[in-house]
Amino acid sequence: MSVTFGILAEHNDKRVALVPKNVEKLVGLGAKVLTENAAGQNAGFSDEMYQQAGATCIAEAEVIAKADILLSIYPPVRERLAGFPAGKILVSQFRPYFDKEVVSFLQAHKLQAFSLDMIPRSTLAQRMDVLSSMASIAGYQAVLAAAQLLPRFFPMMITAAGSIKPAKVLIIGAGVAGLQAIATAKRLGAIVEAFDVRAAAKEEVQSLGARFVEVAGAQDDADAGGYAVEQTEEFKKKQAALIQEHARQADVVITTAQIRGRKAPVLVEAETVGQMRPGSVIIDLAASTGGNCALTQDEKTIVHEGVTILGHSDLAKEMPQNASELFSNNLFNLLELLIKEGELFIDENNEIVSSTLITK
Ligand code: NAD
Repeated sequence: MSVTFGILAEHNDKRVALVPKNVEKLVGLGAKVLTENAAGQNAGFSDEMYQQAGATCIAEAEVIAKADILLSIYPPVRERLAGFPAGKILVSQFRPYFDKEVVSFLQAHKLQAFSLDMIPRSTLAQRMDVLSSMASIAGYQAVLAAAQLLPRFFPMMITAAGSIKPAKVLIIGAGVAGLQAIATAKRLGAIVEAFDVRAAAKEEVQSLGARFVEVAGAQDDADAGGYAVEQTEEFKKKQAALIQEHARQADVVITTAQIRGRKAPVLVEAETVGQMRPGSVIIDLAASTGGNCALTQDEKTIVHEGVTILGHSDLAKEMPQNASELFSNNLFNLLELLIKEGELFIDENNEIVSSTLITK
């Protein structure tokens, strides 16, 4: 029997997990697609577009009852999930590294789950990597948010009314989000410096025209699959001192430093914030895992001694159309692996399938 996918609407999020272009492709592979009414509305994808792509738009309860595989960007809250019929398959971001109870909860409710944030960081899996796609958008959005909040220009300006110095931007963590932030801040004309504990980051930062702030003596991360590793106390002390010095001179600090499965390292101390110029801005993209700034409050924008601290990790939400398109492409590339002649096919010998399947 052909497999039926169900697209759920997100809550407090304008994005949608699968856009009509990819619905059409799934239908082309012999699958059926049900879409919750108005699921793509806020991202610019109307029900008519879904219907034209071959989907049927129905109420949420019907999608849950009829679909074999339910798709969403974030999983429904526990109270709702508890009511899902046993045997359903869910594809979403369950963050099992952070939510330690999610696997046992899903097992207890006999729900099978693929967690998109568990996609391996291999060349083969890159086209399915939602974390990278969303991080790249967040890095871009972080710079735009900072430029809006900063009471100064980013570029240098020479006008009849006087000259304006370019803004100084410090980016901490030069992974996917950080590199996109560097590129965006450079395009806006700021002076950009960045640093990261991973040795490979130096060349990438410099190739984007930014200055790499170096702290000697970082732990080797060669076997960590692209992720950072925990650093020694001595390294952390040296790093803290250097950040203090550079943050004091920055107009904007964008922090993106994360360590998978752990609380984000605090890299900008409260005292450092107090020493920054009033009007300066900190954008903390690590807010949801504890924040890189000691004063960050998750999902909040606060002002401390004249310094604005924006603590929103999920800035990709703010660009719902492109974010949905990229997420949807990543998701489709994974779903394609789960279909054979229109039917569901879970090949646990495939490394990408086995790494993302968190409950069987
Ligand atoms: P991430 O979100 O886990 O972390 C963000 C950045 O913070 C990383 O660059 C990390 O090194 C840095 N960081 C951690 N602790 C720090 C500290 N104490 N001080 C300063 N910086 C610190 O990482 P990410 O951005 O998702 O990706 C990291 C790397 O993995 C990048 O090189 C990226 O290109 C690579 N990657 C590869 C693939 C793939 O091959 N499929 C996919 C995604 C990412």
